[in-house]
Amino acid sequence: MRKKSITVGGKKWIPSIQDWSWIISVLWMTAANFWHPFGLFGFVCMFTPIIIAISGRGKMHCARICPRGSLIGKIGAIVNFGLNRPKLYYKKWFRPLLWGVMMGSFAVMLILVVPRGIDALGFAVLIFMETATVLAIINGILFTPRQWCTICPMGFTSGNIRSFKQKLLRRNTKDVTA
Ligand code: SF4
Repeated sequence: MRKKSITVGGKKWIPSIQDWSWIISVLWMTAANFWHPFGLFGFVCMFTPIIIAISGRGKMHCARICPRGSLIGKIGAIVNFGLNRPKLYYKKWFRPLLWGVMMGSFAVMLILVVPRGIDALGFAVLIFMETATVLAIINGILFTPRQWCTICPMGFTSGNIRSFKQKLLRRNTKDVTA
């Protein structure tokens, strides 16, 4: 059955490509392991959810596109122990902490690696993305397939951008109707 695009908050969302977008993840990681500069494609994976959220489409990337989300969904559908997720994941501070640790280490890594050139930078981005993917897969196997998505730093960032934009919209609407 052909998937349809929908309109959310006045913005058109594309039909989901998550049936197959996991292939992008696998091909990219495989190719980048052979040719490190290709690891820089990881920046596209990082910035796409942010750009989409800034465009007003909220978490359309998570729901319709994300290759990693697609990959963990597929793997988790094959092997999944269905354990209860750790209580830690429910804590309010956990997501910001994980976000801070991951983004902080990414920033430090960039500072250290950028002077060493494209090859080293591509490889570092690849290692960072592969580490996140391995964590996502382990979470998906142990708990629910898309468990990682409840704590993922990029999902957290795009969710915050969406909330910020919604708040802004509500405030502007109030100002107009006041
Ligand atoms: S939460 Fe993260 S891994 Fe999950 S779909 Fe969104 S960007 Fe992808």
